[in-house]
Amino acid sequence: MAAEAKHFKYVILGGGVAAGYAAREFGSQGVKPGELAIISKEPVAPYERPALSKGYLFPQNAARLPGFHTCVGTGGDRLLPQWYSHKGIELILSTEIVKADLASKTLTTAAGATFTYDTLLIATGSSVIKLTDFGVQGAESNNILYLRDIADADKLVAAMQAKKDGKAVVVGGGYIGLELGAALKINNFDVTMVYPEPWCMPRLFTAGIAHFYEGYYASKGIKIVKGTVASGFDADANGDVTAVKLKDGRVLEADIVIVGVGGRPLTGLFKGQVDEEKGGLKTDAFFETSVAGVYAIGDVAAFPMKLYNEQRRVEHVDHARKSAEQAVKAIKAKESGESVAEYDYLPYFYSRSFDVAWQFYGDNVGDDVLFGDNDPASAKPKFGSYWVKDGKVVGVFLEGGSAEENQAIAKVARAQPPVADVEALKKEGLEFAAKV
Ligand code: FAD
Repeated sequence: MAAEAKHFKYVILGGGVAAGYAAREFGSQGVKPGELAIISKEPVAPYERPALSKGYLFPQNAARLPGFHTCVGTGGDRLLPQWYSHKGIELILSTEIVKADLASKTLTTAAGATFTYDTLLIATGSSVIKLTDFGVQGAESNNILYLRDIADADKLVAAMQAKKDGKAVVVGGGYIGLELGAALKINNFDVTMVYPEPWCMPRLFTAGIAHFYEGYYASKGIKIVKGTVASGFDADANGDVTAVKLKDGRVLEADIVIVGVGGRPLTGLFKGQVDEEKGGLKTDAFFETSVAGVYAIGDVAAFPMKLYNEQRRVEHVDHARKSAEQAVKAIKAKESGESVAEYDYLPYFYSRSFDVAWQFYGDNVGDDVLFGDNDPASAKPKFGSYWVKDGKVVGVFLEGGSAEENQAIAKVARAQPPVADVEALKKEGLEFAAKV
């Protein structure tokens, strides 16, 4: 006979950023011992995932757990495993859920154990897209690496030690590629980046923004190959990668290859059971899905973005944190017959590498207006971009802003001030934001 299911009032499925911030909110709203469980594939308590492509890879004083457990990323307390046990929150780690039956409110693990719940928070995040998914020749060779979780980061650290001062090829020019290219360079690798687009981070960067980062990376000794893709890999007798073959015929020697070509939200367990949109699980402004009592937060949620009057999915850490807090507040309020305000999110993304750091708020649609000094050879480059749509500023990007300046650009993106004269806006640059 199958073992009896373990029951919790609340189950958070997934143990990443959203899970950690949801647990903190449950903790502060009040949760009784035994009411809440987090079930995670990962062997460790929730942590701040962005650290994996930054501090975790430093050659000296690298970040390690327990240093970056949630919720330090927003200046809060670190929730160590003891915090969960003190609160009576069960951390069920190294446990993959392979089946979710929302009708019977039952989750089944790979080992066949079952859990039931009254309320479920789906926080399964994303998985990386692998080159083996497309059958790229030789993509299964050793030292062709990806980065999503701490196990991946440990593999990368081990490979950097084994192939000291070697050659690294980064496939992909998104933020993961850019951050990892920098990390490998800081670790003294000879780094080449390869991407098919005309410039890096094309989903956000304009040509003017990318001009700075590509020049800056080149000044650090990173080679950039654009307009082509990796079409195959060579390996030695041990199966270790030795070269990346490009579609344009060039061959790049490589001891390590790191691939950052995007992710996919992990929604497969719920196929056919909840409404989906934009590749995610469709929610309302409180992150409840089409199934009552089932919430989706973080990367997997396709939620109403009030500011733009559109359902969207956001794969960034700020939203993972805020959506988790919103969902738990809404769950708790509902239980006591109260309500909370609708989620009103202002998109916020950031990235850091070497000694450059940028922030972006709002929407990158409409016409872009570059301002400031984006010359990578400048002693003190400082620049940004506004996006103007229907005569209003709807998005702002800023490299190297101070805390106050970043607050000012966030205010602009939220307020969407009108712009009469785009040339004047370009000339005014950051001054415009300071006045809003
Ligand atoms: P995750 O944090 O990915 O957590 C998902 C959790 O669910 C994981 O623990 C996973 O193991 C678990 N899980 C999934 N399926 C199952 C299952 N079936 N059973 C059990 N457990 C399961 N964003 C930024 O804005 N700025 C950055 O600088 C930045 N840097 C990043 C760097 C890296 C290396 C990565 C990978 C992401 C970065 N991000 C960044 C994105 C950000 O980290 C994510 O948007 C955020 O982590 C999403 O939170 P989440 O809780 O939805 O998912």
